[in-house]
Amino acid sequence: MKFIIATNNAKKLVELERILQPLGIEAVTAKQEGIALDDVEENGTTFMENSFIKADSACKKSGLPAIADDSGICVDALGGAPGIYSARFAGEEATDEDKNALILEKLKNVEQSKRGAHYVSAISCVFPNGDKIQVEGKCFGDIAYEPSGNGGFGYDPIFLYEGRSFGDFTPDEKDKVSHRGNSLRMLKEELIKYLEENNAYK
Ligand code: IMP
Repeated sequence: MKFIIATNNAKKLVELERILQPLGIEAVTAKQEGIALDDVEENGTTFMENSFIKADSACKKSGLPAIADDSGICVDALGGAPGIYSARFAGEEATDEDKNALILEKLKNVEQSKRGAHYVSAISCVFPNGDKIQVEGKCFGDIAYEPSGNGGFGYDPIFLYEGRSFGDFTPDEKDKVSHRGNSLRMLKEELIKYLEENNAYK
């Protein structure tokens, strides 16, 4: 059984392949199937809506079941920003360092107890018959006062989980507690159930 993964992010693809392969599912990218997803407008108002828009479009264009993830960070002291705008926060050309510096600047006078933040990973899996599976994983922590570590990516150097920067976590340590680790574990459970119910398991 072949699933299309609606992402250009190589890290997400690897994480999804790891989950899907033991279920007898071959993960292919939109590019491998010769499908363009650049024209898909992520104009939803939630992570889940955006993941559905991406998966639904890939499914309709390919005729294959499709999976998409939408993720980001929500900072309490910024009213939940950058949220669904996490990738573009600080401008289209901004680097991860720029984005982290902007958050630290905005929080420079915010005391320890008010620096809460959480990551969200929303995944939609859409089937050609219209069936869908949707799961959402979260990970709660705090924004640090300064970046630490080279691990992970994006906002990880300024995200503290139980007082320790995600930038200092190994990939395995991060997988165990992260938003995407949580959403992928839920996806796996839901997919096994779905495939069993539809006699499509292996
Ligand atoms: P997208 O889901 O590929 O659009 O990613 C949204 C943004 O959220 C990216 O800019 C990432 O930097 C950020 N993000 C999502 N997941 C993580 C994570 O696990 N660590 C750090 N940043 C993340």
